[in-house]
Amino acid sequence: MGYFRDSRRIVVKVGTSTLTHNTGHLNLRRIERLVKVLSDMKNSGIQVVLVSSGAVSAGVAKMGFGRIPVTPEEKQAMAAIGQSELMKMYDKFFSDYGHTVAQILMTKDVLSNPARRSAAENTFNRLLEMNCIPVVNENDSVSTDELTKFGGNDILSALVAQVCEADLLLNLSDVDGLYDSDPRSNPDARLMERVEELNEEIYAIAGGAGTDRGTGGMIAKLNAAKIVTSSGIPMFILNGHEPEILYTLLDGGHVGTYFCASKKDVK
Ligand code: GLU
Repeated sequence: MGYFRDSRRIVVKVGTSTLTHNTGHLNLRRIERLVKVLSDMKNSGIQVVLVSSGAVSAGVAKMGFGRIPVTPEEKQAMAAIGQSELMKMYDKFFSDYGHTVAQILMTKDVLSNPARRSAAENTFNRLLEMNCIPVVNENDSVSTDELTKFGGNDILSALVAQVCEADLLLNLSDVDGLYDSDPRSNPDARLMERVEELNEEIYAIAGGAGTDRGTGGMIAKLNAAKIVTSSGIPMFILNGHEPEILYTLLDGGHVGTYFCASKKDVK
């Protein structure tokens, strides 16, 4: 099964730009398509953990707030409103395909405290044993500072992959992967299929790709790749706008950019 050959447990990170329209409202059609593919993956015997953004954007849209929140309090309030909206949709669509979701909201201090980290590990393991699909986000409503904030869901997803001892991290973004130069300014830019080593050269070619509704640019994704690959977990950057491309991976094909793990590798 190609990249999935040895993958019993995968973490899938999906960004705000994939989950929402330009209006900020949830893109229900795309969420449903993503949920269908992930349900199929689960049906094929793979344990799936979903790290989902979109709470702040959904909250802003629901309240008709009309702009990106500026103050921490505004952002925290919007996240609280949007997170339940997001989970309502995941619960509805995953239920339609026969699966049970479980919400886990994380703050960074959980992972730096051994007892709390171990509690989180146990919860993930128990949920996965019970065949649930954990849906994870940062607990934006209570995280305010360096100690509690992850600095975006790219990093959160990498740390979740470590906590869950995942075999693979899939980062679904609004770009096809990492290009050898900026595809927005250079029409000859080529998609890099495989990155063996995340060195300075790779960082130098990563531009500031990303949209204004999510927080993660390419550098954040490379930082996430650095975290997981150095602990033996490979990572893909893929375009989440067509969630069905995940079937290509499941069927043994290749899409996006693959970052090889530095300790062990699945292919
Ligand atoms: N936790 C944020 C949200 O749900 C997203 C952060 C990110 O996309 O990196 O809106």
